[in-house]
Amino acid sequence: MDYQKIIEDIYEAIRPYEKEGQQATYIPELAKVNPDQYGMHLCTTRGDSASLGAADTRFSIQSISKVLSLAMCLAIKGDDLWKKIGKEPSGTAFNSLVQLEHEQGIPRNPFINAGAIVMADILLTHLDNPEQDFLRFVRAVAGNDTIDYNREVAASERETGYLNAAIANLLKYHQTIENDIESVLHLYFLMCSIEMSCRELALAFMAFADHRREFNYDGIALTSSQVKRINAIMQTCGFYDEAGEFAYLVGLPGKSGVGGGIVAIYPQQYSVAVWSPRLNSKGNSVMGLKALELLTSETKESIF
Ligand code: GLN
Repeated sequence: MDYQKIIEDIYEAIRPYEKEGQQATYIPELAKVNPDQYGMHLCTTRGDSASLGAADTRFSIQSISKVLSLAMCLAIKGDDLWKKIGKEPSGTAFNSLVQLEHEQGIPRNPFINAGAIVMADILLTHLDNPEQDFLRFVRAVAGNDTIDYNREVAASERETGYLNAAIANLLKYHQTIENDIESVLHLYFLMCSIEMSCRELALAFMAFADHRREFNYDGIALTSSQVKRINAIMQTCGFYDEAGEFAYLVGLPGKSGVGGGIVAIYPQQYSVAVWSPRLNSKGNSVMGLKALELLTSETKESIF
């Protein structure tokens, strides 16, 4: 399969959409990003790769970090994690409060904000240095020691993070989180602020794409069955209230973030990351979704 040629053809085919959507502006620092950027990187379990455009430009991975938090929390808590967080698709926006209130402070899944805020609380409870430990884990998965938080983005998000603060308050009221609200939000926003490029994300997600490979990074170890189950949750919950649409159009487990990144895996074959900051109304990258839809259509490769 000539992935390089395929991703080049895809880029030409989706250019008519390049001005569609708007970057996330509710996080003031993200409003400053040039929205007219596009990058893609794919790497295969056989060691081949394909790259296009701004594949080496780092961007805010935002909710993509929730997959890495889940890996760390599952390694620490095992199945006990599911006492505090569900694993069903939410069918609601990533920052919705309604469902959380209705379901008495138990988030539907780890990939909506409420679930990830609970995971930040778990890391605070179980780790001596959660900020450093999480970053060390991400660096180890990606095999790259230069990956870092962007503290300006995190601080900027805290300043306007009224909805996430409301979610944290509701979780605290229901005793789903143990630590003080400010510390939990601080860690949650920091985790979202990590910056990585498409190449770095695709390489990091090879850890999930190839579940036969040992998962043990900086002492955070998962069984192959746990890795497969993380992929299952990406499939059912990775795109909030657009998870069904992503399964329908693309057919791969994946995760998006409001920085405009999307990462997806074709189990045992490849990992791919695409980035373009303009989002649709559900908070998912317009060009990213189109690119992945065409990728699995052109190659006739998907999990279905
Ligand atoms: N930090 C963002 C928020 O909490 C993450 C959301 C996302 O990427 N979907 O709103």
